[in-house]
Amino acid sequence: MPRADAGCTLRAVAVAGTGTDVGKTVVTSALLRALRGLGVAAQAVKPVQTGVSAAGGVRDGGTGGMPRRGDAGTYASAVADMAGASSVPPAAALRTFALAASPHFAAAAEGVCLNAAGLAEDIRGHWARLSPPAELLLLETAGGLLAPLNARETMLDLMACLGAPVILVARNELGALNHALLSLAALRRRGLALAALALVEPPREVREASGPAILEENIRYLRERLRADWPGAVMCCLPHVETLGPEGWSLLAEQLLPLAHSLRGKPAPGFPDTSDDLEGRDHAALWHPYASATRLPPLETASRSHDNRIVLADGRELVDGMSSWWAAVHGYNHPRLLAALRAQSGRMPHVMFGGLTHAPAVTLGERLLAAMPAGLERLFFADSGSVAVEVALKMALQCQQGRGERRRTRFLAPRGGYHGDTLGAMSVCDPVTGMHSLFAGLLPEQLFMERPACRFDAPFAAASLEDARRILAERGDEVAAVILEPVVQGAGGMWFYHPDYLRGLAELCRRAGALLILDEIATGFGRTGRFFAAEWADVRPDILCCGKALTGGVLSLAATACTAAVAGDICRDGRVFMHGPTFMGNPLACAVAGASLDILEENRWQAQVEQLERLLARGLEPCRRFSDVADVRVLGAIGVVEMKAPVNGAALQRFFVERGVWIRPFGRLIYLMPPYITPAEDVARLCDAVFRALEADAWRLPV
Ligand SMILES: *Cc1c(COP(=O)(O)O)cnc(C)c1O
Repeated sequence: MPRADAGCTLRAVAVAGTGTDVGKTVVTSALLRALRGLGVAAQAVKPVQTGVSAAGGVRDGGTGGMPRRGDAGTYASAVADMAGASSVPPAAALRTFALAASPHFAAAAEGVCLNAAGLAEDIRGHWARLSPPAELLLLETAGGLLAPLNARETMLDLMACLGAPVILVARNELGALNHALLSLAALRRRGLALAALALVEPPREVREASGPAILEENIRYLRERLRADWPGAVMCCLPHVETLGPEGWSLLAEQLLPLAHSLRGKPAPGFPDTSDDLEGRDHAALWHPYASATRLPPLETASRSHDNRIVLADGRELVDGMSSWWAAVHGYNHPRLLAALRAQSGRMPHVMFGGLTHAPAVTLGERLLAAMPAGLERLFFADSGSVAVEVALKMALQCQQGRGERRRTRFLAPRGGYHGDTLGAMSVCDPVTGMHSLFAGLLPEQLFMERPACRFDAPFAAASLEDARRILAERGDEVAAVILEPVVQGAGGMWFYHPDYLRGLAELCRRAGALLILDEIATGFGRTGRFFAAEWADVRPDILCCGKALTGGVLSLAATACTAAVAGDICRDGRVFMHGPTFMGNPLACAVAGASLDILEENRWQAQVEQLERLLARGLEPCRRFSDVADVRVLGAIGVVEMKAPVNGAALQRFFVERGVWIRPFGRLIYLMPPYITPAEDVARLCDAVFRALEADAWRLPV
């Protein structure tokens, strides 16, 4: 198992316990001995050691206050007689605290706040600095799986950050089954891989008190469960050893040989496996958004995510600047979103919405209507943004039919808009970037007016409404509805226009008898600094679509809401609305969306978005100095650098990944829309990366 490259792809297994004092240190030390005996350059590491005095000893009530060695001392003593087996030092402790207590408490006593991402970085840094390099780290955690690191995170979060497979250690005594099964369930829920379950025999008094038959049954039962639920995990049973000298360690190491072999041979499940070549397999089988299947786009493999970070398969962490296309506003793996998902999945993942209803859908629908601009009273769940737009267009058509306005079959949209990739939605996208010529004949032909020319941050010029006024005067009786993105045109150009335009347009629609559809799929849920961007202009649309951030980026869900008047006209004379997706109102997605609204309702989004607006404005300002930059603009948590010429997206993606940030430019735009929870220093990193890309000319297309 040589280290494949000079990079720092961490190879580690975590040794975790079902509780404290179950024998983790003994298992770690004996496994270290077994591995080094097989010639594996392994090192045992204690990432957080509590109860260590300044002198390096450990305070332990059990030894009458006499300092004893930390766990690292035990690791070293387990291999002390094997000198020469490996030149890698056998043991290390990374963070030490004097108080013999849970890590969060011991750290707090010294004014330190631990966090999972920081500890994971410590471990990766330690691994990268080891010289000679190690082949495998055994990471012994502190306490049980849910031992707290801070008010929010536990040891489980640290293991999830590392993504390493886990060796779960349990003491074989009364209650062992319950403790082991609870811990296994917690590991499974976090998506962690199990390398082994190690059952440690207790001292003779405990054994006898528990009853030997019961302990035998524990082993049998857990072996069965492991075989059924965790194929590939190794079961190890360690005898109790009275005195731990070379002989005792040898005896224990022998029991762990099968595990040591499995760790040495093929990578244990959960190891980031570079031999997997996911990029190559992807290139052979899959398609990516707006990509060629023959001229292959550059790809990175994402293996995990947390907070505002995307973790690549080789362990590199990227600061996310995209919120996964507007969606992940609370960052990734938000515990409350995941908890809602799990709770609902245990109750009812999905049922058809025809003839059935359920609390997640009803509650979410009520809450969304209450949060939307006044007048919207009926809501239709769709499974993606594009479908929500199709639903809106069909609603408008059926509404006009219900009113007897059969000539009104067209839609009017501004240039520079984006509404999705299905046929109806595409027909109202910008006719140039929406590639209407490519699908001519298939797409319904719609009417287009000039892009709202008035900047958000400039005085409103009434002339910008002239084109809309002219078209509605000439052909207004053909128009079923006007559709546009309020205030921010997203994928069509990241353009911010004046709210007065929207107000004026709403009035023109009303006079022309055309409905007003607002596509809030990108702008909804706070991104522009208002909960819905329509609030900037205080307009009341007839129909409104939302999606993207609706589930906080966890699942696909969208919704289309309309007024009671629109609903009434659609359903005149016993008619029904003709749409019904199979996964309509999916309970999992609705439950997660409910949890996302809970987080938003606590109303920190406003402060977060205001802060992001300030930081993005400050951070992107220096980009103005480059002569190739056409414009720098910021609204809410959206920051845009518009170039005078198209950028080299592939080259920029590589440039940004090398600098540890995830930013995906398109067209002439390099833009940022980070998760609302992004810390100030990460916003600075994102902005700095954009500046450096311009400085290094990394954006230029080869001529
Ligand atoms: C993304 C987007 C859509 C399409 O949503 P999907 O979920 O990708 O189908 C529609 N309208 C706007 C404004 C969008 O930004």
